[in-house]
Amino acid sequence: MGDRIQLIVGVARVRGGTPGPGNLLEGTSHLHLGGPRGKRIYSPPLGPWLVSRTCGRCLIEFPGIDGRLLAWCNRDKFFVCGRCVKECRKLHGTNRKSMGFPAIISALMILLLLACFAPSSVALTYEYTRLNLWRATAVTPIGSALVGQTIKIFGTIVSESSYAYPVALSGHEAIGRGCTWIWDAGARFAASDGTGTVFVTVARYWEIADGPHPNPARTCNIPESQYYVGDPVVIWGNLENDSSGATVLQASVVSPNAAHPVPNLLGWAIVTPFLVLCVGLSLRTAVLARQRLALHRKSLEGKASLPLPTFPDTRDPGLPWQKTYAGSALLDRARYAGLFAAFPWALPAVYLWLVRPHSQNEYYIMALFATLSAFLAVSVLFTALTSRVKPSAMAVTQAGIHFWYERAADRYELDAVIPWSDVQDVRMGVVGKIPALILALSSGGTKSFPGLGAEVRDAILAGWRENAVHPSPEGIQ
Ligand SMILES: [Zn+2]
Ligand SMILES: [Zn+2]
Repeated sequence: MGDRIQLIVGVARVRGGTPGPGNLLEGTSHLHLGGPRGKRIYSPPLGPWLVSRTCGRCLIEFPGIDGRLLAWCNRDKFFVCGRCVKECRKLHGTNRKSMGFPAIISALMILLLLACFAPSSVALTYEYTRLNLWRATAVTPIGSALVGQTIKIFGTIVSESSYAYPVALSGHEAIGRGCTWIWDAGARFAASDGTGTVFVTVARYWEIADGPHPNPARTCNIPESQYYVGDPVVIWGNLENDSSGATVLQASVVSPNAAHPVPNLLGWAIVTPFLVLCVGLSLRTAVLARQRLALHRKSLEGKASLPLPTFPDTRDPGLPWQKTYAGSALLDRARYAGLFAAFPWALPAVYLWLVRPHSQNEYYIMALFATLSAFLAVSVLFTALTSRVKPSAMAVTQAGIHFWYERAADRYELDAVIPWSDVQDVRMGVVGKIPALILALSSGGTKSFPGLGAEVRDAILAGWRENAVHPSPEGIQ
Protein backbone atom coordinates (compact mmCIF):
# COMPACT_ATOMS: atom_id res chain seq x y z
CA MET A 1 0.00 0.00 0.00
CA GLY A 2 1.39 3.37 -0.96
CA ASP A 3 1.76 6.43 1.12
CA ARG A 4 -1.58 7.67 0.07
CA ILE A 5 -4.68 5.94 -1.06
CA GLN A 6 -7.21 7.86 -3.00
CA LEU A 7 -10.65 6.67 -3.90
CA ILE A 8 -12.51 8.58 -6.50
CA VAL A 9 -16.23 8.95 -6.27
CA GLY A 10 -18.59 10.88 -8.41
CA VAL A 11 -20.86 12.26 -5.76
CA ALA A 12 -20.51 14.29 -2.65
CA ARG A 13 -22.88 16.23 -0.53
CA VAL A 14 -22.72 19.78 -1.71
CA ARG A 15 -23.19 22.37 0.92
CA GLY A 16 -22.56 26.02 0.71
CA GLY A 17 -21.27 27.92 -2.19
CA THR A 18 -22.15 27.45 -5.74
CA PRO A 19 -21.83 23.97 -7.10
CA GLY A 20 -19.90 23.70 -10.27
CA PRO A 21 -16.42 23.10 -11.55
CA GLY A 22 -15.00 25.35 -8.89
CA ASN A 23 -16.71 23.59 -6.06
CA LEU A 24 -14.48 21.18 -4.26
CA LEU A 25 -17.15 18.83 -3.11
CA GLU A 26 -18.96 18.47 -6.37
CA GLY A 27 -18.17 16.26 -9.25
CA THR A 28 -15.10 14.15 -8.80
CA SER A 29 -13.86 14.25 -5.26
CA HIS A 30 -11.12 12.37 -3.58
CA LEU A 31 -10.97 10.53 -0.34
CA HIS A 32 -7.64 11.45 1.02
CA LEU A 33 -6.41 8.75 3.32
CA GLY A 34 -2.80 9.71 3.53
CA GLY A 35 -1.64 10.86 6.89
CA PRO A 36 1.62 11.99 8.36
CA ARG A 37 3.62 8.95 9.20
CA GLY A 38 4.97 8.20 12.59
CA LYS A 39 2.76 10.76 14.24
CA ARG A 40 1.31 10.01 17.57
CA ILE A 41 -2.30 8.98 17.46
CA TYR A 42 -4.32 10.83 20.02
CA SER A 43 -7.30 9.27 21.66
CA PRO A 44 -9.69 12.06 22.48
CA PRO A 45 -11.92 11.45 25.47
CA LEU A 46 -15.56 10.68 24.89
CA GLY A 47 -17.84 13.60 25.44
CA PRO A 48 -19.85 16.24 23.62
CA TRP A 49 -17.41 15.91 20.69
CA LEU A 50 -19.16 12.75 19.70
CA VAL A 51 -22.62 14.25 19.62
CA SER A 52 -21.84 17.54 17.93
CA ARG A 53 -19.01 19.17 16.05
CA THR A 54 -18.10 22.84 15.80
CA CYS A 55 -17.04 24.60 12.61
CA GLY A 56 -13.51 25.92 13.14
CA ARG A 57 -14.28 29.22 11.37
CA CYS A 58 -17.74 30.38 12.40
CA LEU A 59 -17.69 28.31 15.62
CA ILE A 60 -21.26 27.18 15.01
CA GLU A 61 -21.96 23.84 16.61
CA PHE A 62 -23.56 21.26 14.31
CA PRO A 63 -25.36 18.48 16.10
CA GLY A 64 -25.64 14.86 14.99
CA ILE A 65 -25.23 13.94 11.37
CA ASP A 66 -24.54 17.52 10.28
CA GLY A 67 -21.50 17.58 12.54
CA ARG A 68 -20.34 14.30 11.01
CA LEU A 69 -20.61 15.82 7.54
CA LEU A 70 -18.36 18.84 8.11
CA ALA A 71 -15.46 18.91 5.68
CA TRP A 72 -11.86 18.78 6.87
CA CYS A 73 -9.52 21.63 5.99
CA ASN A 74 -5.94 20.45 5.90
CA ARG A 75 -4.54 23.98 5.94
CA ASP A 76 -6.51 25.17 8.93
CA LYS A 77 -6.38 21.79 10.69
CA PHE A 78 -10.03 21.97 11.67
CA PHE A 79 -13.47 20.98 10.40
CA VAL A 80 -15.35 23.60 8.42
CA CYS A 81 -18.99 23.99 7.55
CA GLY A 82 -20.31 24.46 4.03
CA ARG A 83 -20.60 28.21 4.48
CA CYS A 84 -17.00 28.56 5.66
CA VAL A 85 -15.53 26.39 2.89
CA LYS A 86 -16.01 29.49 0.72
CA GLU A 87 -13.87 31.45 3.15
CA CYS A 88 -11.19 28.76 3.00
CA ARG A 89 -11.26 28.98 -0.78
CA LYS A 90 -10.78 32.75 -0.66
CA LEU A 91 -8.00 32.63 1.94
CA HIS A 92 -5.85 29.75 0.84
CA GLY A 93 -7.65 28.09 -2.00
CA THR A 94 -9.02 24.60 -1.78
CA ASN A 95 -8.08 21.60 -3.77
CA ARG A 96 -8.43 17.87 -3.45
CA LYS A 97 -5.41 17.59 -1.23
CA SER A 98 -6.26 20.42 1.11
CA MET A 99 -9.84 19.32 1.76
CA GLY A 100 -10.81 15.97 3.23
CA PHE A 101 -13.95 13.93 3.13
CA PRO A 102 -15.85 13.43 6.36
CA ALA A 103 -14.98 10.03 7.88
CA ILE A 104 -18.61 8.93 7.59
CA ILE A 105 -18.40 9.31 3.79
CA SER A 106 -15.11 7.42 3.68
CA ALA A 107 -16.72 4.67 5.75
CA LEU A 108 -19.60 4.41 3.30
CA MET A 109 -17.20 4.18 0.38
CA ILE A 110 -15.39 1.32 2.09
CA LEU A 111 -18.76 -0.27 2.79
CA LEU A 112 -19.59 0.00 -0.89
CA LEU A 113 -16.39 -1.88 -1.73
CA LEU A 114 -17.11 -4.42 0.99
CA ALA A 115 -20.65 -4.93 -0.34
CA CYS A 116 -19.15 -6.29 -3.57
CA PHE A 117 -17.29 -9.07 -1.79
CA ALA A 118 -18.84 -9.73 1.60
CA PRO A 119 -21.72 -11.97 0.41
CA SER A 120 -19.34 -14.15 -1.64
CA SER A 121 -17.00 -14.46 1.31
CA VAL A 122 -19.93 -15.64 3.44
CA ALA A 123 -20.65 -18.40 0.89
CA LEU A 124 -16.94 -19.26 0.74
CA THR A 125 -16.68 -19.40 4.53
CA TYR A 126 -19.74 -21.63 4.67
CA GLU A 127 -18.19 -23.95 2.10
CA TYR A 128 -14.89 -23.99 3.97
CA THR A 129 -16.48 -24.91 7.31
CA ARG A 130 -18.70 -27.51 5.63
CA LEU A 131 -15.67 -29.17 4.02
CA ASN A 132 -13.73 -29.04 7.28
CA LEU A 133 -16.59 -30.83 8.98
CA TRP A 134 -16.71 -33.37 6.17
CA ARG A 135 -13.02 -34.04 6.56
CA ALA A 136 -13.19 -34.22 10.36
CA THR A 137 -16.07 -36.72 10.47
CA ALA A 138 -14.88 -40.30 11.15
CA VAL A 139 -16.03 -43.13 8.86
CA THR A 140 -18.93 -45.19 10.27
CA PRO A 141 -19.45 -48.85 9.19
CA ILE A 142 -22.83 -49.04 7.42
CA GLY A 143 -23.83 -52.04 9.54
CA SER A 144 -23.64 -50.06 12.77
CA ALA A 145 -25.15 -46.78 11.57
CA LEU A 146 -28.35 -45.60 13.25
CA VAL A 147 -31.28 -43.72 11.72
CA GLY A 148 -31.13 -40.01 12.58
CA GLN A 149 -27.34 -39.87 12.58
CA THR A 150 -25.13 -37.76 10.34
CA ILE A 151 -22.54 -40.23 9.14
CA LYS A 152 -19.70 -40.65 6.71
CA ILE A 153 -19.44 -43.99 4.94
CA PHE A 154 -16.64 -45.39 2.84
CA GLY A 155 -17.78 -48.15 0.48
CA THR A 156 -18.38 -49.26 -3.09
CA ILE A 157 -21.32 -48.50 -5.36
CA VAL A 158 -23.21 -51.77 -5.86
CA SER A 159 -26.26 -50.78 -7.99
CA GLU A 160 -27.25 -48.27 -10.66
CA SER A 161 -30.45 -46.32 -10.39
CA SER A 162 -32.33 -45.73 -13.65
CA TYR A 163 -29.29 -45.32 -15.86
CA ALA A 164 -27.89 -47.84 -18.30
CA TYR A 165 -25.40 -50.19 -16.63
CA PRO A 166 -22.80 -49.44 -15.26
CA VAL A 167 -23.71 -45.77 -14.53
CA ALA A 168 -24.89 -45.15 -10.96
CA LEU A 169 -24.85 -41.36 -10.77
CA SER A 170 -24.83 -38.89 -13.64
CA GLY A 171 -26.13 -35.49 -14.62
CA HIS A 172 -26.39 -33.09 -17.50
CA GLU A 173 -24.57 -30.11 -18.88
CA ALA A 174 -26.23 -26.73 -18.50
CA ILE A 175 -24.89 -24.63 -21.33
CA GLY A 176 -25.91 -21.04 -21.05
CA ARG A 177 -23.68 -18.44 -19.59
CA GLY A 178 -20.73 -20.81 -19.34
CA CYS A 179 -20.95 -24.52 -18.70
CA THR A 180 -22.29 -26.10 -15.55
CA TRP A 181 -22.63 -29.72 -14.64
CA ILE A 182 -25.92 -30.39 -12.90
CA TRP A 183 -26.01 -33.64 -10.96
CA ASP A 184 -29.20 -35.63 -11.28
CA ALA A 185 -30.92 -35.08 -7.94
CA GLY A 186 -33.27 -38.00 -8.64
CA ALA A 187 -30.47 -40.58 -8.62
CA ARG A 188 -30.67 -43.43 -6.13
CA PHE A 189 -28.05 -46.11 -5.82
CA ALA A 190 -26.84 -48.65 -3.25
CA ALA A 191 -23.47 -48.53 -1.50
CA SER A 192 -21.90 -51.34 0.46
CA ASP A 193 -18.86 -51.51 2.73
CA GLY A 194 -18.89 -55.19 3.75
CA THR A 195 -20.72 -54.54 7.03
CA GLY A 196 -23.95 -53.63 5.26
CA THR A 197 -25.65 -51.99 2.29
CA VAL A 198 -27.53 -48.69 2.22
CA PHE A 199 -29.50 -46.85 -0.43
CA VAL A 200 -28.20 -43.38 -1.16
CA THR A 201 -30.24 -40.45 -2.50
CA VAL A 202 -28.80 -37.14 -3.65
CA ALA A 203 -32.10 -35.22 -3.72
CA ARG A 204 -30.67 -32.46 -1.51
CA TYR A 205 -26.95 -32.86 -2.06
CA TRP A 206 -24.65 -30.00 -1.12
CA GLU A 207 -21.62 -30.92 -3.18
CA ILE A 208 -20.68 -33.88 -5.35
CA ALA A 209 -17.03 -34.17 -6.28
CA ASP A 210 -16.04 -35.03 -9.84
CA GLY A 211 -16.55 -38.74 -10.44
CA PRO A 212 -13.92 -41.12 -11.80
CA HIS A 213 -15.48 -41.34 -15.32
CA PRO A 214 -15.97 -38.56 -17.87
CA ASN A 215 -19.40 -37.90 -19.28
CA PRO A 216 -19.34 -39.47 -22.78
CA ALA A 217 -21.62 -36.76 -24.23
CA ARG A 218 -19.53 -33.86 -22.96
CA THR A 219 -19.36 -30.71 -25.05
CA CYS A 220 -17.86 -28.43 -22.42
CA ASN A 221 -14.28 -28.49 -21.32
CA ILE A 222 -15.17 -28.94 -17.66
CA PRO A 223 -14.48 -32.00 -15.50
CA GLU A 224 -18.06 -33.22 -15.61
CA SER A 225 -18.25 -36.84 -14.74
CA GLN A 226 -20.08 -39.96 -13.70
CA TYR A 227 -19.97 -42.61 -11.00
CA TYR A 228 -20.19 -46.29 -12.04
CA VAL A 229 -21.12 -49.46 -10.23
CA GLY A 230 -17.96 -50.77 -8.62
CA ASP A 231 -16.48 -47.31 -7.95
CA PRO A 232 -15.23 -46.56 -4.46
CA VAL A 233 -17.25 -43.80 -2.86
CA VAL A 234 -17.16 -41.69 0.32
CA ILE A 235 -20.53 -40.24 1.31
CA TRP A 236 -21.44 -37.85 4.09
CA GLY A 237 -25.09 -37.40 4.95
CA ASN A 238 -28.07 -38.12 7.18
CA LEU A 239 -29.43 -41.60 7.65
CA GLU A 240 -33.22 -41.21 7.40
CA ASN A 241 -36.38 -43.17 6.80
CA ASP A 242 -37.99 -42.14 3.52
CA SER A 243 -41.76 -41.92 2.91
CA SER A 244 -42.03 -45.65 2.25
CA GLY A 245 -40.29 -46.44 5.52
CA ALA A 246 -37.07 -47.64 3.90
CA THR A 247 -33.77 -46.43 5.37
CA VAL A 248 -31.83 -44.14 3.00
CA LEU A 249 -28.68 -42.13 3.29
CA GLN A 250 -29.58 -38.55 2.28
CA ALA A 251 -26.22 -37.46 0.87
CA SER A 252 -24.74 -34.00 1.46
CA VAL A 253 -21.31 -34.75 0.05
CA VAL A 254 -20.41 -37.51 -2.42
CA SER A 255 -16.81 -38.07 -3.44
CA PRO A 256 -14.57 -40.80 -4.89
CA ASN A 257 -12.18 -40.26 -1.95
CA ALA A 258 -11.87 -38.46 1.37
CA ALA A 259 -9.51 -35.76 -0.05
CA HIS A 260 -12.17 -34.23 -2.32
CA PRO A 261 -14.00 -31.94 -2.82
CA VAL A 262 -11.46 -29.16 -2.24
CA PRO A 263 -12.35 -25.64 -1.12
CA ASN A 264 -12.91 -22.99 -3.79
CA LEU A 265 -9.36 -21.63 -3.80
CA LEU A 266 -9.96 -19.43 -6.85
CA GLY A 267 -12.83 -17.76 -5.01
CA TRP A 268 -10.63 -17.07 -2.00
CA ALA A 269 -7.84 -15.79 -4.23
CA ILE A 270 -10.23 -13.23 -5.72
CA VAL A 271 -12.02 -12.21 -2.53
CA THR A 272 -9.18 -12.12 0.02
CA PRO A 273 -7.20 -9.13 -1.37
CA PHE A 274 -10.35 -7.01 -1.39
CA LEU A 275 -11.27 -8.01 2.14
CA VAL A 276 -7.75 -7.13 3.28
CA LEU A 277 -8.02 -3.83 1.40
CA CYS A 278 -11.32 -3.06 3.17
CA VAL A 279 -9.77 -3.77 6.57
CA GLY A 280 -6.73 -1.64 5.72
CA LEU A 281 -8.83 1.26 4.46
CA SER A 282 -11.06 1.08 7.55
CA LEU A 283 -8.04 1.23 9.83
CA ARG A 284 -6.57 4.18 7.97
CA THR A 285 -9.89 6.02 8.03
CA ALA A 286 -10.21 5.41 11.77
CA VAL A 287 -6.64 6.54 12.45
CA LEU A 288 -7.08 9.62 10.26
CA ALA A 289 -10.41 10.48 11.92
CA ARG A 290 -8.73 10.35 15.34
CA GLN A 291 -5.81 12.46 14.18
CA ARG A 292 -8.15 15.05 12.69
CA LEU A 293 -10.31 15.16 15.79
CA ALA A 294 -7.22 15.72 17.96
CA LEU A 295 -5.95 18.50 15.66
CA HIS A 296 -9.42 20.02 15.54
CA ARG A 297 -9.64 20.10 19.32
CA LYS A 298 -6.22 21.70 19.54
CA SER A 299 -7.19 24.37 17.00
CA LEU A 300 -10.36 25.17 18.89
CA GLU A 301 -8.88 25.14 22.36
CA GLY A 302 -10.33 27.87 24.54
CA LYS A 303 -12.96 28.89 22.01
CA ALA A 304 -16.64 28.71 22.85
CA SER A 305 -19.01 27.36 20.24
CA LEU A 306 -22.28 28.97 19.23
CA PRO A 307 -25.59 27.19 18.73
CA LEU A 308 -26.92 26.68 15.22
CA PRO A 309 -29.17 29.67 14.40
CA THR A 310 -32.79 28.66 14.17
CA PHE A 311 -33.91 31.98 12.74
CA PRO A 312 -35.67 32.23 10.37
CA ASP A 313 -37.59 29.11 11.32
CA THR A 314 -40.37 29.69 8.79
CA ARG A 315 -40.44 30.93 5.24
CA ASP A 316 -41.01 34.63 4.66
CA PRO A 317 -44.77 34.76 3.88
CA GLY A 318 -44.21 37.84 1.72
CA LEU A 319 -42.38 35.86 -0.98
CA PRO A 320 -44.13 33.95 -3.81
CA TRP A 321 -42.91 30.49 -2.76
CA GLN A 322 -43.31 27.54 -5.06
CA LYS A 323 -42.70 23.98 -4.01
CA THR A 324 -39.72 22.31 -5.65
CA TYR A 325 -38.03 19.27 -4.15
CA ALA A 326 -38.76 17.13 -1.13
CA GLY A 327 -35.22 15.80 -1.07
CA SER A 328 -33.67 18.27 1.31
CA ALA A 329 -35.35 16.56 4.24
CA LEU A 330 -33.95 13.13 3.38
CA LEU A 331 -31.52 13.19 6.27
CA ASP A 332 -34.38 13.82 8.65
CA ARG A 333 -36.21 10.87 7.23
CA ALA A 334 -33.81 8.19 8.41
CA ARG A 335 -36.73 5.80 8.49
CA TYR A 336 -37.28 6.11 4.75
CA ALA A 337 -33.59 5.71 4.01
CA GLY A 338 -33.58 2.62 6.27
CA LEU A 339 -36.64 1.20 4.55
CA PHE A 340 -35.21 1.73 1.08
CA ALA A 341 -31.90 0.23 2.19
CA ALA A 342 -33.71 -2.84 3.57
CA PHE A 343 -35.91 -3.29 0.51
CA PRO A 344 -33.27 -4.81 -1.85
CA TRP A 345 -32.80 -7.70 0.60
CA ALA A 346 -36.21 -8.98 -0.50
CA LEU A 347 -34.48 -10.46 -3.57
CA PRO A 348 -32.28 -13.03 -1.74
CA ALA A 349 -35.08 -13.60 0.76
CA VAL A 350 -37.50 -14.58 -2.03
CA TYR A 351 -34.83 -16.81 -3.59
CA LEU A 352 -34.24 -18.47 -0.22
CA TRP A 353 -37.96 -19.02 0.22
CA LEU A 354 -38.75 -20.25 -3.32
CA VAL A 355 -35.63 -22.25 -4.20
CA ARG A 356 -34.70 -23.51 -0.71
CA PRO A 357 -31.05 -23.74 -1.77
CA HIS A 358 -29.09 -26.80 -0.72
CA SER A 359 -26.29 -27.19 -3.25
CA GLN A 360 -23.07 -25.24 -3.26
CA ASN A 361 -23.99 -23.71 -6.63
CA GLU A 362 -27.28 -22.43 -5.29
CA TYR A 363 -25.48 -20.83 -2.35
CA TYR A 364 -23.22 -19.02 -4.79
CA ILE A 365 -26.23 -17.81 -6.79
CA MET A 366 -27.68 -16.62 -3.50
CA ALA A 367 -24.41 -14.78 -2.77
CA LEU A 368 -24.71 -13.11 -6.16
CA PHE A 369 -28.21 -11.88 -5.32
CA ALA A 370 -27.02 -10.77 -1.88
CA THR A 371 -24.15 -8.85 -3.50
CA LEU A 372 -26.65 -6.96 -5.60
CA SER A 373 -28.78 -6.28 -2.53
CA ALA A 374 -25.83 -5.15 -0.42
CA PHE A 375 -24.69 -2.86 -3.21
CA LEU A 376 -28.14 -1.31 -3.59
CA ALA A 377 -28.56 -0.98 0.18
CA VAL A 378 -25.25 0.85 0.63
CA SER A 379 -25.99 2.98 -2.44
CA VAL A 380 -29.25 4.09 -0.85
CA LEU A 381 -27.45 5.09 2.36
CA PHE A 382 -24.76 6.79 0.31
CA THR A 383 -27.32 8.77 -1.68
CA ALA A 384 -29.18 9.74 1.49
CA LEU A 385 -25.98 11.16 2.95
CA THR A 386 -24.24 12.59 -0.08
CA SER A 387 -26.97 13.69 -2.45
CA ARG A 388 -26.96 17.34 -3.16
CA VAL A 389 -29.13 19.27 -0.76
CA LYS A 390 -32.04 20.69 -2.67
CA PRO A 391 -34.37 23.52 -1.72
CA SER A 392 -37.91 22.47 -0.82
CA ALA A 393 -39.26 25.77 -2.13
CA MET A 394 -38.07 28.56 -4.37
CA ALA A 395 -39.36 32.10 -4.92
CA VAL A 396 -38.57 34.48 -7.76
CA THR A 397 -38.54 38.20 -7.04
CA GLN A 398 -36.93 41.30 -8.51
CA ALA A 399 -34.06 40.77 -6.10
CA GLY A 400 -33.22 37.27 -7.22
CA ILE A 401 -34.04 33.62 -6.62
CA HIS A 402 -34.84 32.72 -3.03
CA PHE A 403 -34.33 29.25 -1.60
CA TRP A 404 -35.92 27.54 1.35
CA TYR A 405 -34.32 24.47 2.94
CA GLU A 406 -36.18 22.27 5.38
CA ARG A 407 -33.31 21.82 7.79
CA ALA A 408 -31.77 24.51 9.98
CA ALA A 409 -28.24 23.30 9.17
CA ASP A 410 -28.89 23.56 5.43
CA ARG A 411 -30.44 27.03 5.82
CA TYR A 412 -27.32 28.13 7.66
CA GLU A 413 -24.82 26.59 5.25
CA LEU A 414 -26.50 27.29 1.93
CA ASP A 415 -27.40 30.54 0.23
CA ALA A 416 -30.89 31.85 1.00
CA VAL A 417 -30.91 33.95 -2.14
CA ILE A 418 -28.97 34.27 -5.37
CA PRO A 419 -29.28 37.89 -6.52
CA TRP A 420 -29.78 38.47 -10.24
CA SER A 421 -26.54 40.42 -10.26
CA ASP A 422 -24.72 37.14 -9.51
CA VAL A 423 -26.42 35.35 -12.39
CA GLN A 424 -24.74 35.44 -15.77
CA ASP A 425 -26.98 33.13 -17.69
CA VAL A 426 -30.06 30.96 -17.28
CA ARG A 427 -30.52 28.11 -19.71
CA MET A 428 -32.05 24.69 -20.08
CA GLY A 429 -29.71 21.74 -20.11
CA VAL A 430 -29.58 18.12 -19.13
CA VAL A 431 -28.29 16.58 -15.91
CA GLY A 432 -28.00 12.83 -16.24
CA LYS A 433 -30.94 12.28 -18.56
CA ILE A 434 -33.23 14.76 -16.83
CA PRO A 435 -33.90 18.20 -18.28
CA ALA A 436 -32.50 20.78 -15.91
CA LEU A 437 -32.51 24.49 -15.42
CA ILE A 438 -28.93 25.68 -15.21
CA LEU A 439 -27.83 28.95 -13.64
CA ALA A 440 -24.39 30.17 -14.69
CA LEU A 441 -23.03 32.34 -11.90
CA SER A 442 -20.61 35.23 -12.13
CA SER A 443 -18.35 33.38 -9.68
CA GLY A 444 -17.72 30.92 -12.48
CA GLY A 445 -19.75 28.07 -11.04
CA THR A 446 -23.08 26.72 -12.12
CA LYS A 447 -26.12 25.66 -10.19
CA SER A 448 -28.41 23.10 -11.79
CA PHE A 449 -31.96 22.14 -10.95
CA PRO A 450 -32.92 18.89 -12.66
CA GLY A 451 -36.57 17.93 -12.92
CA LEU A 452 -37.81 21.30 -11.80
CA GLY A 453 -41.58 21.84 -12.11
CA ALA A 454 -42.72 23.82 -15.15
CA GLU A 455 -44.17 26.65 -13.07
CA VAL A 456 -41.00 27.32 -11.09
CA ARG A 457 -38.88 26.94 -14.19
CA ASP A 458 -40.99 29.46 -16.15
CA ALA A 459 -40.98 31.87 -13.20
CA ILE A 460 -37.16 31.78 -13.08
CA LEU A 461 -36.84 32.19 -16.86
CA ALA A 462 -39.30 35.11 -16.78
CA GLY A 463 -37.49 36.62 -13.79
CA TRP A 464 -34.21 36.34 -15.63
CA ARG A 465 -35.65 38.06 -18.75
CA GLU A 466 -37.01 40.91 -16.66
CA ASN A 467 -34.10 41.39 -14.32
CA ALA A 468 -31.07 40.31 -16.27
CA VAL A 469 -28.15 42.64 -15.80
CA HIS A 470 -26.24 41.33 -18.81
CA PRO A 471 -28.84 39.80 -21.12
CA SER A 472 -27.51 37.11 -23.43
CA PRO A 473 -30.13 36.38 -26.12
CA GLU A 474 -29.01 32.82 -26.86
CA GLY A 475 -29.51 31.92 -23.22
CA ILE A 476 -33.17 32.86 -23.22
CA GLN A 477 -35.69 30.38 -24.49
ZN1 LIG B 1 -18.63 27.62 9.54
ZN1 LIG C 1 -9.24 26.30 5.39
